[in-house]
Amino acid sequence: MSGKVVLLTDRRYLNQVPRVPSQLEAPTGFVADALGRPLRDLRISVTDRCNFRCVYCMPKEVFGRDYAFLPQSSLLSFEEVMRIAKIAVAHGVEKIRLTGGEPLLRKHIEKLIAALSVLKMPDGRELDLTLTTNGALLERMAQTLKDAGLKRVTVSLDALDDATFKHMNDVDFPVSQVLNGIDAAHRVGLGQIKVNMVVKGGMNDQEIVPMARHFKNSPFILRFIEYMDVGTSNGWRMNEVIPSAEVVRRISALMPLEPIEKNDAGETAERWRYRDGAGEIGVISSVSQAFCHACSRARLSTEGKLYTCLFASSGHDLRALMREGRSDEEISTAIAHLWRARTDRYSALRTGHTNVRKVEMSYIGG
Ligand code: SAM
Ligand code: SF4
Ligand code: SF4
Repeated sequence: MSGKVVLLTDRRYLNQVPRVPSQLEAPTGFVADALGRPLRDLRISVTDRCNFRCVYCMPKEVFGRDYAFLPQSSLLSFEEVMRIAKIAVAHGVEKIRLTGGEPLLRKHIEKLIAALSVLKMPDGRELDLTLTTNGALLERMAQTLKDAGLKRVTVSLDALDDATFKHMNDVDFPVSQVLNGIDAAHRVGLGQIKVNMVVKGGMNDQEIVPMARHFKNSPFILRFIEYMDVGTSNGWRMNEVIPSAEVVRRISALMPLEPIEKNDAGETAERWRYRDGAGEIGVISSVSQAFCHACSRARLSTEGKLYTCLFASSGHDLRALMREGRSDEEISTAIAHLWRARTDRYSALRTGHTNVRKVEMSYIGG
């Protein structure tokens, strides 16, 4: 027998049922964590399934035919998602992003969007309701999403060159259909559309300049994301990260850029505009320049676990609380307590400890 250790349990993922304090409290529209960061942003993963197998996210060797995705009964129902969303908004959440897996694969996603779109913040303002998609189904669904009340959409696209893109999505999906999806979203008025490109050194970094050129002078904002060590499936290595400073340098050498102010403190992207006035780009430096100090984001997994950090190895099981019949007030109090205890700042502390088991991006959403 070899000395290799085999995990026998599905640790998707270590489970913690939050403690419900006996002293219940009403939400006040503001709750800050142990480092003074408010809860402002909620990402909701509506499915762990995807029609792509991006090599940096759901590599085929791990997410193959035999991979056990969550059964339907494990998923939060739309009613359960709405309960948590309402409580989060009462605690100060201003922005909700639907994600996954691929969120457009969730059946009747438009019904959830319609329900979320009528939620109001405690001061009566509307929520910023958005969704991140790989764009494969966007051309077909853009109008339905808009009609349901979605405000904006972010589309992921890692290359303009078909061979490179197909290699990265690993399901032979062509660039043209994603571009058609982006155009359809624009046509129906799905807000200021952002296009996200994950840059993996040696794989698509030769596409940085062509992508910049393509989206320069367009209604779309292209953002470059550093390849991150999320999860444990993608075999991440530091030398495959192209730092944002290098992305800016390569573009600026040909199409000069200058920095501009962030829209708000919690924004993850650093903004740069073309000196000739032809628009802007963003860079998200999750690895080279951590933004944990301003991180106001919580993530709700497909099966109802609340993660206070993208790199957490365990989530707080809100579904258990709902299914054991806890009241909104009890769940709200439990969330306030666990947010107040939050000290996460994984990226700021990122050192050699990347071999711990972390949650997969496709499970809690990016
Ligand atoms: N399927 C949708 C999509 O691709 O847009 C939504 C979910 S996906 C997990 C959300 C975002 O995470 C995408 O923009 C994707 O490119 C990004 N992402 C996934 N794995 C990543 C990694 N290892 N490093 C950086 N970004 C990653
Ligand atoms: Fe699917 Fe999005 Fe992950 Fe690609 S990045 S595998 S599209 S969830
Ligand atoms: Fe937020 Fe965690 Fe990312 Fe830091 S590492 S920015 S705390 S999600």
